[in-house]
Amino acid sequence: MKKIVILGSGFSSLAASCYLAKAGFDVTILEKNSEAGGRARQLLKQGFTFDIGPTFYWMPDVFERFFSDFGKKPSDYYDLVKLDPGYQVYFGVKDSISISADFEKIKAEFERIETGSSAKLQKFMNNAKDNYEIAINDLVYKPGQNLMEIINLKTFGKLNQFIDTIKAQVGRYIKNHKLRKILEFPVLFFGSKAVKYTCILQFYELCGLWSWHMAS
Ligand SMILES: Cc1cc2nc3c(=O)[nH]c(=O)nc-3n(C[C@H](O)[C@H](O)[C@H](O)COP(=O)(O)OP(=O)(O)OC[C@H]3O[C@@H](n4cnc5c(N)ncnc54)[C@H](O)[C@@H]3O)c2cc1C
Repeated sequence: MKKIVILGSGFSSLAASCYLAKAGFDVTILEKNSEAGGRARQLLKQGFTFDIGPTFYWMPDVFERFFSDFGKKPSDYYDLVKLDPGYQVYFGVKDSISISADFEKIKAEFERIETGSSAKLQKFMNNAKDNYEIAINDLVYKPGQNLMEIINLKTFGKLNQFIDTIKAQVGRYIKNHKLRKILEFPVLFFGSKAVKYTCILQFYELCGLWSWHMAS
């Protein structure tokens, strides 16, 4: 059996190891820290538990797809709790906006702050949903061996979304600067800025709709 050694035990290494083992390789993981998990570890101190890295469980479809490749479900291993509100965005000490898990409530909050913004938010989210589906199915899950993999009728029809930035798009929909910030900030989770990040790779901007936390 061919042997493969993987350095590191973060999510990416663990996932790669599972697929390689399934494909019949003899996989060994070498981790420099004393425990596995990489950035997704916890620090237990004086009775408190700190998440060193991830707290939000976003894009649950990615986890479902991973587990189903091995004939399993996430619920075979852990329980998820829906966070409501998903999170709260602070603009000052007593100045914050709660992002509900209910889209109708988020729309109502937008409308309260800027007249007409709920309909624009709905449009923005419809576009984000289309982009997400294309990004996940036609870009992210392709092996990335050549450019032709990602050129098809769907991606061609969305060419403008490869150039348009989140900041520019949000600016066309929403005027209020707080609401704009709410729609722009999630791209920081991709290590980027709304001014640079292209719309095609946006995921549902209001991650409150998607915010889960692992209960056990
Ligand atoms: C503060 C913070 C908050 C975050 N919040 C979220 C969130 O809410 N939701 C979310 O989905 N994501 C979140 N993330 C992102 C998420 O944690 C990372 O994307 C993910 O854990 C990265 O996994 P990885 O396998 O790519 O890398 P890592 O987790 O960094 O794993 C790399 C591993 O390789 C090991 N290693 C490196 N070099 C060597 C070597 N030479 N030999 C042996 N081992 C080596 C390291 O010790 C580490 O264990 C957050 C990240 C941070 C830092």
